Amino acid sequence: MSRPRAALRIQLDKPTARAVASGHPWVFRDVLEGLTRKPRSGEEVVLLDSVGAFLAQGIAGDAEGRGPGIRVLSRDERTPPLNKLLFRRIAAAHRLRERVVLPGTDVYRLLHGEGDELPGLVADRYGEVLVIRPDDLGMWTPHLNRVVEALRSEGPRGIRAIVLRTKDGEREVLWGEDGLDEVIVTEEGRRYLVRPGHGQKTGFFCDQRVNRTHLQGLVRDDDRTLNLFSYTGGFSVAMAVGGAAHVTSVDVSKSILDDLGRNLSLNGAKPAAHAQVTADAFEWTRQAKIDPVGIAVCDPPALARSKRDLEAAGRAYKGLHVGLASKIKKGGLLMTCSCTARFTEDDLLAAAFYGLKQGGRRVTRVLRRAEAGPDHPVPPGFPEGRYLSCLTLALD
Ligand code: SAH
Repeated sequence: MSRPRAALRIQLDKPTARAVASGHPWVFRDVLEGLTRKPRSGEEVVLLDSVGAFLAQGIAGDAEGRGPGIRVLSRDERTPPLNKLLFRRIAAAHRLRERVVLPGTDVYRLLHGEGDELPGLVADRYGEVLVIRPDDLGMWTPHLNRVVEALRSEGPRGIRAIVLRTKDGEREVLWGEDGLDEVIVTEEGRRYLVRPGHGQKTGFFCDQRVNRTHLQGLVRDDDRTLNLFSYTGGFSVAMAVGGAAHVTSVDVSKSILDDLGRNLSLNGAKPAAHAQVTADAFEWTRQAKIDPVGIAVCDPPALARSKRDLEAAGRAYKGLHVGLASKIKKGGLLMTCSCTARFTEDDLLAAAFYGLKQGGRRVTRVLRRAEAGPDHPVPPGFPEGRYLSCLTLALD
């Protein structure tokens, strides 16, 4: 039986073809400029190399958007069309999570776009709720019904709702029960209240799971600790569960305060052992005077959205670390993070090193260099996919 062929065939110039052939999953938008017929958002296309040979099957980005023009779906000519492929790829993504996520943990990234060969498609699991939040919503909109069908058929058992989170923060129930607005999830023994589809990302930062567990194991009983940019307390809970004597959480947002407090009590942290500070963390680190802590965490939002922001991001990071220098005890530890591939691990290490130095402290050792956990897989040859850097540093 002959397979229906994607109608639009796009021949790539040599450098683009070489990049795709060596594993890069994107074709940038400018490559589409010369085409007589431009692909529709979400249309399946065939990519040809500069002599017209098959290179890959792809899917077109939002025609009105600014992301990649085409994303690679498969490098195999015999791959079935997307409506069939979705089932296979979602089943594979689910199998991988059953291997890399500990039993009992019901909060994780189920679909991680390019890393699961479903480019631009992201979905997180929060207990009985799945939240879809595509990187390119326009691209996936024509396929959403099928995505939901495939998730129901091949995804985790016991799901009661599938929710879409749009870029402007709207929440739409695509399938299942309305009203699962609040769920309690378990992450490697820690418990969190999550509002699936509300708040930051899809509700919670699943990408820091392995780093939270690492941090939890570093806490010793008499440690006072500090969590800058705490959000709902992902790391605060890890330090409390690790046995910290005291946790200070700093975040500018007032709306997270209730959930932060509830997350600490869910895990049995004594209220007196926790201070919640609503403040700009940049200003706070400059001005606040606290009893120096044994362990501090610094996990700001992406400070560099484009190349032009890099210098400013470097300065901002350095400033944070100048301030952190006086907040960490002699011989204390710092876990510091960047969540954009633009500001790399090396950029982060340099900003931390020089900032702390300016504050009178020396980084004596890098204890750990880490990224997101294995539920955020990255294809080889895709540096843009390595967006999270997390360094654990020991100070003098
Ligand atoms: N570490 C968290 C995630 C941090 S997300 C976790 O593991 O769950 C970044 C947080 O930084 C958000 O909660 C946002 O409200 C906060 N934020 C953004 N700008 C800030 C600022 N200038 N000062 C303090 N907090 C800020």
